[in-house]
Amino acid sequence: MHRFFPLLYHIPAGSSWVMVVWLCLWRLNGACQPLEYTVSPTYEDETMKLRITVQFDGTHTGKSYLNYQSNQFGVDGQMDFISFPDQMPGVSIFKEPDSNRFVVIHAPDARVQATYLLTDLQGKMPFYNYCCFNPIIKPTYFHVQAGHLLATPSHYWDGPDDIQTVHFNMENFPPEWVLHSSFGKGPKQHVALRNAQLGYAIFVGGDFRRYAFKVANQPVYFVTRGEWTQFTDDTLRNLLQKTVEGHRVFWQDFSDTLYSVTFLPIDDAPWSDKAKSASCGGSGLTNSFMSFATNNPGIDYDYIRYVYVHELMHRWIGIKIENANEEKQYWFSEGFTEYFTLKNSLRYGFIDVNKFLQQLNDDFMAEHYSSTTKLFPNDSLNYERFWNGGRDWEKLPYRRGCIYAFHLDNYIRKKSKGAQNLDMMMRQILKAVQANPNQKLDHLFFTRMVRQSAGKKGVLDFQKFIEKGIPIDFAQAPLPIGLNLEVVDMPKINKFEPPGKTKPEIVKNIPQFRRNPNISEQALKAALLQ
Ligand SMILES: [Zn+2]
Repeated sequence: MHRFFPLLYHIPAGSSWVMVVWLCLWRLNGACQPLEYTVSPTYEDETMKLRITVQFDGTHTGKSYLNYQSNQFGVDGQMDFISFPDQMPGVSIFKEPDSNRFVVIHAPDARVQATYLLTDLQGKMPFYNYCCFNPIIKPTYFHVQAGHLLATPSHYWDGPDDIQTVHFNMENFPPEWVLHSSFGKGPKQHVALRNAQLGYAIFVGGDFRRYAFKVANQPVYFVTRGEWTQFTDDTLRNLLQKTVEGHRVFWQDFSDTLYSVTFLPIDDAPWSDKAKSASCGGSGLTNSFMSFATNNPGIDYDYIRYVYVHELMHRWIGIKIENANEEKQYWFSEGFTEYFTLKNSLRYGFIDVNKFLQQLNDDFMAEHYSSTTKLFPNDSLNYERFWNGGRDWEKLPYRRGCIYAFHLDNYIRKKSKGAQNLDMMMRQILKAVQANPNQKLDHLFFTRMVRQSAGKKGVLDFQKFIEKGIPIDFAQAPLPIGLNLEVVDMPKINKFEPPGKTKPEIVKNIPQFRRNPNISEQALKAALLQ
């Protein structure tokens, strides 16, 4: 069996806002204590749990709600990981049925301390079937997303853009443990955050190795553990440095002051003649991304390189430029990320022109033009289809968006006679959302930007190729100098089945791009990057 985790990226738009009923008292009299979390280990038999104590200013009704991200990253029921020990006198806490929150009863207007326990519910399930979006808590390390670790008082944030001060303290862990979070190294952090920034973070501790380097004088951390068999820590650290530097130069954006990448090995995935399991994934989070891979020959350096370039690109496409409506703009947050993963991997020297064309042809053109979902309009993609509709639904926005981005890049270059390209339009989009933080990436905004760079025909193309989902006819479309189109019938690529197992289905009329033999590789590279 060949098993695969898709690249998962899930941004928080609209996921966790609740009506704010009670504002924190500092709004009335200018004084309010920050939210404080203390995370410590607690041991029971052979297992370790995390004990989380949260201190906050309670509401004046004597009843506060703590929001918990029970359903996240396509995994439901995370609330089952929570239990409650004895509380301080005068405080009681329980799970509210059919909701994603705890209820805390306390003295009115009091500073409240509430405690809950977080458990690894892995049980008898193999680790490779379980890792890595669920809380992982073992005697030697833990790896937990903030959404599953930190329950947040619903009255602290007065809306999506409100900023609150939060103190974190990880204490009583073995002294040799490396402790790290999206908010920095070490056990104590004081940060000012939006609610969503807190919910999308990662906390790790244990036998990790931490590497630090600087980009434009700002720290970047790489945190990993275990014994990787297919590459060295050094190789990955270098990859990370080149990618972070490359992306910041690409966006002309050096405003990030901190960035962390965690990388977790999955050691128990089978790799034998009888069973093979390879998987790799990650998720862009606040100031960070978490990543994981099976530690076997099924995942090589090349694949990790792809994951890193892709995930680090989400820092801008998806996080700084945020989708207005989650799945409805995955063609942008995933598709454009795929295109700029390809294009920038060529630019940074990670891949050559042949590899660029091979990936564009195999992973995008062949997959999309033979896909069962290629004709569905953009609006038909929703949460259920994306997460549970099978591979053709899940991959639809990646493939369609990437192919469209390639086309748009070619079109802008042709229309401007080489003076502009999609890179420039992306930087204009970034500038526009930075100038107006309420501006999300919706179709109205995107068409406005397209109109500036690609004119009226560019807008019509967007409606046709993305909104209506009509596949691009590349025979009618501009291509970079030195690139030829060939439309072929070919065996359907099935990466998830060993070759020769079943007779491959022949798929027809697949557009493929070939290097014109009269142009050098160097010249084609320049044309693709122009
Ligand atoms: Zn992604």
